[in-house]
Amino acid sequence: MMIHDTWDPVAALRRDKDLPDDALVELLDTDKMDEALAAAADSVRRSIYGDQIYVRGLIEFTNYCKNDCYYCGIRRDNRMAERYRLTKEEILSCCKKGYALGYRTFVLQGGEDPFYTDEKICDIVSAIRTGYPDCAITLSIGEKPRESYQAYFDAGANRYLLRHETAEEEHYNKLHPKELSLANRKRCLFDLKEIGYQVGTGIMVGSPYQTTKNIVADLRFMQELKPDMIGIGPFITHRETPFAAFPKGSLKLTVRLISVLRLMFPYALIPATTALGTIHPLGREMGLEAGANVVMPNLSPVQVRKKYELYENKICTGEEAAECKSCLEQRVAGIGYRIVTDIGDVKRGGNE
Ligand code: SAH
Repeated sequence: MMIHDTWDPVAALRRDKDLPDDALVELLDTDKMDEALAAAADSVRRSIYGDQIYVRGLIEFTNYCKNDCYYCGIRRDNRMAERYRLTKEEILSCCKKGYALGYRTFVLQGGEDPFYTDEKICDIVSAIRTGYPDCAITLSIGEKPRESYQAYFDAGANRYLLRHETAEEEHYNKLHPKELSLANRKRCLFDLKEIGYQVGTGIMVGSPYQTTKNIVADLRFMQELKPDMIGIGPFITHRETPFAAFPKGSLKLTVRLISVLRLMFPYALIPATTALGTIHPLGREMGLEAGANVVMPNLSPVQVRKKYELYENKICTGEEAAECKSCLEQRVAGIGYRIVTDIGDVKRGGNE
């Protein structure tokens, strides 16, 4: 028998942490290998992170945004969005709740809101740093000049999430207005890395106009960036956006891509995202079983949760933080993993 007759793309991907472009396209376009992919991804993840699931307390502190991304429900031109901002005291009280629940990472996410000047962000970050010296502070507040990133880092931030959204310029320009550029998005990511942040990037699966080739380009970009965290979730339609008529992304493809990411980036921190839990009641569980090892429960005050509406029907907008925690704990235990109280830094080894 000829050797390529028995060629197993999953085994090859696991061994080489890579495949040629055409093999990646094929693997992403079929559901035939899904079980084998998930099993390999779970085995790799268990060999590095065991059965541990890291938790990040997500604080959505503003839904004001100066940008007008075509997919996003809190885009500037959505006049229907009810805007809100949290005060420093409100943010600190979220951290207090989260700490008591065992969370050792706080993620401050928001639209690009000029109200929060660098000075204000630094003040908030250093207050959290002083109050919670054993915690990681993650920012996810969009594109900034390098000096701003440096100032936040000096104030005590350690991680930054900034999805590149898509690595091909033509596609990027179909998702964003012309003031925004892929070149600047990438510049931000490399600046963040150089400054010393643990950096997360990622994409929406099934965003309008996305092709499988786009996704392969995303994987190639990630190989160049070597991110510590990789967040992906399905695109979900929001009625008050220019993409109101586009279908949502596929559950299966999102889960498959999580497995591919685990095999290509064994050490990466990969969340089972809220968007994944939104398109299917067991979406997050499927993500964890396919190689994800992080969950990001919402710590925002309940009265603002519905207003941070990036997409429709977002889950977990009604419960208090403590309810979210016990719900997640049960879900995670039910599929054989364990939520831990841990800062949850990336384990180094293979991604360098
Ligand atoms: N302003 C910050 C945070 C953006 S919100 C920034 O620019 O990074 C976080 C992520 O939500 C985005 O990066 C995007 O990938 C995702 N998102 C936005 N709209 C979405 C939608 N309609 N469906 C699914 N994910 C969406």
